[in-house]
Amino acid sequence: MSFIDKLSSGVNEAGNTISQKAREISEQTKLTGEINKNRARRDELIRQLGESYYQAKQSGTEANFDELVHEISLVDGILAKVTESLNQLKGIVICEKCGTEISKGSAFCPSCGTPVKEPTVIRCPKCSAELAAGSRFCVYCGAKIE
Ligand SMILES: [Zn+2]
Ligand SMILES: [Zn+2]
Repeated sequence: MSFIDKLSSGVNEAGNTISQKAREISEQTKLTGEINKNRARRDELIRQLGESYYQAKQSGTEANFDELVHEISLVDGILAKVTESLNQLKGIVICEKCGTEISKGSAFCPSCGTPVKEPTVIRCPKCSAELAAGSRFCVYCGAKIE
């Protein structure tokens, strides 16, 4: 391999690492935007709920809040899912007991000692690449994960 070839392959590797990082960052930005949007939506729904409750009380009329409550719970569901994806991307697990952020690979919560339910990442037994938990094959070397 000539010096120039070595140089350009080195550049390519660096380029790949950077674009991978850039992808992760843009994905994080997207998820964060999604979270902010849904938080704003939730705030607005809560405000509407308060407003209609007040109106109903004030005028002494019967009001049905089911639709609003249902919508808020839908937004909550979306928020939980998006937050989980973001945490997974960042390699953070949230302790289900105390809510502490636990760094990836930990088996127990550092604050309360609760065992971490399932690891978000596993390692390929062959090439030791980090893979999403539940992967059946390594995406880097093709090894079967037992
Ligand atoms: Zn904990
Ligand atoms: Zn592998």
